[in-house]
Amino acid sequence: MEMNFCRRCGAILSLENGHVYRCESGHTIFANASPASCLWLLNDKNELLVVVRALNPGKGMLDAPGGFNDGAETFETSVARELEEEVGLKPTDYTRPQYLLSDLDAYDYKDETIDVLCCVYHARLIGNPPIKAQDDVAEARFIAIADIDPSMIYFDSVREGFLKLKSHIDHDSH
Ligand SMILES: [Zn+2]
Repeated sequence: MEMNFCRRCGAILSLENGHVYRCESGHTIFANASPASCLWLLNDKNELLVVVRALNPGKGMLDAPGGFNDGAETFETSVARELEEEVGLKPTDYTRPQYLLSDLDAYDYKDETIDVLCCVYHARLIGNPPIKAQDDVAEARFIAIADIDPSMIYFDSVREGFLKLKSHIDHDSH
């Protein structure tokens, strides 16, 4: 992560190691990744809700509904808010999200690469609520797991979560 000045005193920062910076006044600044979350939602036909990214980075590529945590939001709150904003689903429309994995992504935004720590969940749809593609989602629909091309999934974390979920489901069905 690019860090030039101390957020406490404005002095020039130097990289100490990894994600730890130190300024001339001795302040230590931790350049932590930004938290984000997403959710792979399964229906009763073992199809997954896949969204198409409306904006760059990764415009036109596949994703799971999700996004950055706002401020001091928890992962649980963030994933519920994103599901509502992006596909119009409320927490009562799916089972309680279960943790799949977390992974780091590089998010290219306005000439900067932002380190993102993404927490990937999965859940099952309850009933047959309407799915609405909105916010930064161009399209949202359920696709059979076997028909999803992992190379079309933009973020590493989301792809790794997909592959882990797919291996669980393949294992359970044999
Ligand atoms: Zn300082």
